[in-house]
Parts: sequence; structure tokens; C-alpha cells
Amino acid sequence: MTGRNPIEDLAHLRHEFGEHGGVNMSVEASSTFTVIDPKTMPDLFQGRAGPDKGCYLYGRHFNPTVFNLGRQMAALAGTEAAYCTASGMGATSGVIFGLCNAGDEIVASTAIYGGSYALMKDFLPAKAGISTRFVDITDLDAVRGAITDKTRLIFTEGVSNPTLRLANIPKLAELAKEKRVKLVVDNTFSPLILRPAALGADIVIHSLTKFISGASDVIAGAICGSEEFIGGLMDLHLGSLMLLGPTMDPNVASAIALRIPHLPLRMAAHSERAMAMAARLHELGLKVSYPGLPDHPDHELFTELYCDEYGYGGLFTLDVGSEEYANALMSCLQNKKRFGYLAVSLGYFDTLMSCSGSSTSSELGDEDKDLAGISPGLLRISIGYTGTLEQRWSQLLAALQETGLVAS
Ligand code: PLP
Repeated sequence: MTGRNPIEDLAHLRHEFGEHGGVNMSVEASSTFTVIDPKTMPDLFQGRAGPDKGCYLYGRHFNPTVFNLGRQMAALAGTEAAYCTASGMGATSGVIFGLCNAGDEIVASTAIYGGSYALMKDFLPAKAGISTRFVDITDLDAVRGAITDKTRLIFTEGVSNPTLRLANIPKLAELAKEKRVKLVVDNTFSPLILRPAALGADIVIHSLTKFISGASDVIAGAICGSEEFIGGLMDLHLGSLMLLGPTMDPNVASAIALRIPHLPLRMAAHSERAMAMAARLHELGLKVSYPGLPDHPDHELFTELYCDEYGYGGLFTLDVGSEEYANALMSCLQNKKRFGYLAVSLGYFDTLMSCSGSSTSSELGDEDKDLAGISPGLLRISIGYTGTLEQRWSQLLAALQETGLVAS
């Protein structure tokens, strides 16, 4: 993929100093901010003064440390602005409430994180009168057919959780433009690897809890988009972030800001390890799915759209045929071989594995699981980069042999 590498913009932004000249920005642990001149207060409330002019009002509105992380996220996503939230779900719901009113509709991919699915399938119709038509996002005719005059947005993950299918972002962006709806892409699985905004997405969401944090120690999210859209989320009357309040803690913002500079190295390391493991599993004849393997249904499109220095991502799936086999394998890997953890989430420096159908995709009904391609024995593996490849491979191979999935 051509285009500017966002790490150049990030490197530039890092030249911001802490309060006493520290090489890292200071943590502004204040929930409220003084004004010297009382006349500044109405200016802040009416949007005539704000963080762009160095004026802060209240931590749920803007906090300097969180604002600074937002600038880094905007540089990373290649958007005009970004705002960081308390979780990825806070980001997703903030975007939907920013774009939709009661009676509006969403067209969403069936293959998305179970929490996002439940938000759209169950919560939004019941609580807000916003309904969703779920479609196979790789079927552009189905997406087109689902759009009505009530549709406000198309929602997809760049790389789908857990099935690792790639959304054709340029084609979806064309369709969104034609139909005058917004294209919202959750890029949690593929930061740096995919650049949805450069490919035409209007709004990019991240759960920072995953690769961007990289240490499975914080829950956080971000919304990246135009100045106008992000500004609207902070509106005092109708702003979904201002009024629903999924505010990021400045200490979390500071912790995450210190990890963004090595995100490029971490993404490349995850991808390199995942590629090697997936290729070896494939050679053994196992049902492994990884976008870097030539037999992946989206391999060619991925190769066209991705940013090659960061590889094909840190996740692969392994279909071992049944939940029983999946549980036996994960248990052996964690408890006997010390190969990673039986835990949900992804993007950790160590390996995390879970059986999607009974965990992070359990919110989907059986029919939607079938449509999304989530079989009962589907293991989602987020590969870490600790230890050596040979050490980890011998642990994985031994566990496959002990559980009878590979002959000894
Ligand atoms: N988006 C994707 C693709 C996810 O996998 C998740 C969580 O697993 C989320 C969003 C929600 O993020 P968070 O747990 O930070 O709210």
C-alpha cells in the first residue's frame, strides 16, 4: 500500500515535553480547571475557547493528557482528530449515538465482536429505537441491498473478530459515499497494518485494550474522525461522549501514550510469529486460517490493502472440530506446556486463546454464528512474541500430539 507512514507524524508529535521539561508528557490529574478571567467560563461553555487554545474546563469534557493521546491516535489513524474513551465499547456506542437518532438504521457485518453485536442486535433497538440489519460484509451486493433511506452508517471491523475476514474498505467507502451514509471501521485487530481512513472510511474505532496497550493491563478506546464529528461528540446538549460520559482516566492515557512509540515494533513481531506458526500448522494439514497464508479467502485483497512492514496480523484461528477438543487443547497448552493463557482478549505480549463460539461470540445466535463462520471448535489465538519461535512451536506441537489432534 502506498501513502504516508503514520509513524512519521507520531515521531513529530512525541516532541512535547512534560511540565518540568520531562521527556514524557505530564499526567494532568485534575478533574476541574481554573480560569483566571471569569469571562473565559462562558467562552468555554459556548465552544469559543477549548483545548486547541490551551483552555480546559472539566475532565469529562477535555483533559490535557487524554487530549494529547487523542492527537497521537489521530496521527496513527491519519484523521483530523481523535478522542479517547474509557473502553472500546464506549467508543463504539459513542459513535453510533453520534450518528443515529431513534428510528435510524445501521447496516453491520455479522462477523463482529460479540459485545458490538449485542449492542446493535439487542440493546439499541430496546433502549433507543435504532435497529441493525446484519449482513455478510464481504458480499457487497448484500450490503447494498440492506441500505435503506433510514440507514446512517455501515459498521464493520477491518479484520473480523474472530473469523479474520477482511472488509473491502475501498469498495465499502464508495458505496457509503454513493448512499450518503458513513463508513465506520473498527480497526482493533489491525492497527498500522490497515489504514481505514486512507482507504476511505469516515470514522475509525479502536479498542486500545488490545494491541495498542499491548500489556492487557488497561481497558480503553478511541474514536478517530473529522474535527467536526469528534467536536460534535462533546456538544453540551447532544454530544454522546459529553453526556454518556465514557471518559478516559488521564493515568491510563499517560500509560498508553508511552507504548505507542513501540507499537510498530510490536505489530511486526506479532505478525512474524503468527505467520511462522500458521504456516507450520498448515503444513501439518490442520484447519488454520491466517490472512498471510495463500489459501486464505482474502489473501490477495489483504496483500493489496495492507501496509507490508507490519505483516498480516497477530491472530489466527484453528478449527479443531469440537468445543471438547478446543478445551482439551487450550487446557494442555496453558496448564501443562505453559504456552500462553486460556483467556479472552488479544494483542497481549503473550499468547491468549479462547474458543470464540462459547466466549466472545456467544452473544450471536446459532444461525448468525453459522453465517459468520464461527464453528463450535474454532479457537482464536492471539500470538505473543515472548520466548523463541522454536520453544513455542515445540510446546504447541507437543500439545497437539497429546490431545490427539496430530499423530505423535
Ligand atoms: N472491538 C473489537 C474488535 C473487540 O475485539 C473488542 C473487545 O474484545 C471491542 C471492540 C471492545 O473493546 P473493549 O473491551 O475495550 O470495550
